[in-house]
Amino acid sequence: MTTLITIPARHGKAARLAAGHSVRIVNTHGQQVVDTWAFTAADLGEFMSMEHSRVAIGRIIPAVGDVLVTNRRRPILTLVADNSGGIHDTLFAACDRWRYELLGCVGYHDTCTDNLAAALKELGLAPPETPAPLNLFMNIPVVDGNRVEIRPPVSTPGSHVTLRAEIDCILAFSACPQDVVPINGLALTPTEAHFEVLG
Ligand SMILES: [Zn+2]
Repeated sequence: MTTLITIPARHGKAARLAAGHSVRIVNTHGQQVVDTWAFTAADLGEFMSMEHSRVAIGRIIPAVGDVLVTNRRRPILTLVADNSGGIHDTLFAACDRWRYELLGCVGYHDTCTDNLAAALKELGLAPPETPAPLNLFMNIPVVDGNRVEIRPPVSTPGSHVTLRAEIDCILAFSACPQDVVPINGLALTPTEAHFEVLG
């Protein structure tokens, strides 16, 4: 038996994951980007790094079998299953207050950066910084070999990705609150997502 844990719309959630165990992230409503971070349990200063992972895997979107690495180039998560269409992003920074200010938002707007901090705080932890996330289900194609575009996710409701821990780690997820550009679909409506820790 496993338990589905809710990542509330516009908010974050964190969990501990032991080496050898896996987590399945479900795109419950199909159009929701889930920013994903992993920090080593022994030292939050060592975390899954997109820039180091791109070097390790030789591409910008991880595929099943690819091993993502830390900022010290050690394996931390392996992508072991994906039925979402295989479109994810490793290029874009997590959204933050300045992103929304530049987009013209007035007043407080939820952000993935704040969601990471809040999720870790529930575990009594604090992120040393906001690493570039693995943006699950986020569709940022490289066009004409150089330009990046923001497009709606291609994932379908209930599709999911499974990641296996290669080292004891702290995982954090944010159901991205982006509702200005179509990161979370043309409806511009962030939704909840779910995850479950597998044995
Ligand atoms: Zn976001």
